[in-house]
Amino acid sequence: MAESGAANWFVMGVDLGSTTAKVAIVDAAGAMVGSKIVQMGAVSREAVRVAMESALEDAGITQDDIVRTISTGYGRKLVPSDKTFTEITCHARGAAALFPGVRLVIDIGGQDSKAIAVDSDGLVDRFAMNDRCASGTGRFFDVLSRALEVPIGEVGDLAMAGSNELEVSSMCATFAETEVISLLAQGAETADIAASVHKAVAARTLGLVAQVGKASPVVMTGGVAKNRALVHFLSEALRLPIEMLDEPQIAGAYGAAIIAREEHLGNVALAAADDATATQFAAGLADAVPHCADCDGQLGLHTNHGPVPVTIATRPMVGARSGGREL
Ligand code: ADP
Repeated sequence: MAESGAANWFVMGVDLGSTTAKVAIVDAAGAMVGSKIVQMGAVSREAVRVAMESALEDAGITQDDIVRTISTGYGRKLVPSDKTFTEITCHARGAAALFPGVRLVIDIGGQDSKAIAVDSDGLVDRFAMNDRCASGTGRFFDVLSRALEVPIGEVGDLAMAGSNELEVSSMCATFAETEVISLLAQGAETADIAASVHKAVAARTLGLVAQVGKASPVVMTGGVAKNRALVHFLSEALRLPIEMLDEPQIAGAYGAAIIAREEHLGNVALAAADDATATQFAAGLADAVPHCADCDGQLGLHTNHGPVPVTIATRPMVGARSGGREL
């Protein structure tokens, strides 16, 4: 058990993503006292259970000490929780708590990427997101890692050792493996392939940021923020420094826990700002945004030709806070 104090209660934030389950536990004073990241084979309730138990153990408390749980992430509906919030809200909130004053959050996870403009109170102002195309997401780097036979944790280091002059003709994740194999067959160095692909993904991410507007300080969240080459090339493309968090992958779960704490303290303004707006927004756009099958094949990125226009298949969803509601 945690030491008893004046206010001896805890809240939990759970972020069930496409590749990992993340849990953060926050105490009554708002400090993160326990956390856990569990790698999953597929989205699973079991991974959530393990992550929750491990985080409780890390905090030295039991489930009975938790007064409120909020879930977020792709699989949030599978999590036993009191309420769900969008990743957009939770990553913004977590990043703002971990880096006060942040104005732009770039979250790149396993299957989507988002640019979130944050106001001076740490609330979502505008967001753009790509969840229709795997290019520019962690999945793309996972494919690269497999094709180059380099562990995902080392892909960034490899890219930093290479030259980024190679032309990458397709950014489609479906064809990336073939593309990489073809470059290898032409005698290209693995480091040069990795560097060129990273630079191309950074250019694509710049297109996403352009949808919400450049602002600083910039913080990256999500697992891809651990990739130092992507951070490097993205910082270069943005012409802005990117602030590093100690554990960027936990930001969404931490944000969810912070919201759970605020709600437990009676902050109904936040309680009202649930994920309905963003969910409705996404649903409204679902038909308007083309899917993979609609890709016209014009996704080629020429890494040395500057920022790449956002093409039809990766046109991001763009939203803005409306009527004072937070997305
Ligand atoms: P999700 O919430 O969708 O599960 P995450 O935010 O956990 O996504 O990010 C997962 C992605 O992060 C993976 O697809 C992988 O590409 C990337 N990633 C995870 N760990 C590392 C690492 N150590 N170095 C570089 N990239 C990483």
